[in-house]
Amino acid sequence: MENERVCNSCGVRLTSKGTTFFSCPMCGESQIGRCTNCRDQSVPYVCPKCDFSGP
Ligand SMILES: [Zn+2]
Ligand SMILES: [Zn+2]
Repeated sequence: MENERVCNSCGVRLTSKGTTFFSCPMCGESQIGRCTNCRDQSVPYVCPKCDFSGP
């Protein structure tokens, strides 16, 4: 399925608590996941659809 949640920044699977998963704030079409590590370090993410990037 396409529902597997992975961190947009580092690609790790998001299975544990503390991870974030949201729609792209720009296009709303892409689902962006963030792991705790990347949130901690404010690693930027990039939307694969519209190239929007954010912290
Ligand atoms: Zn990550
Ligand atoms: Zn987007």
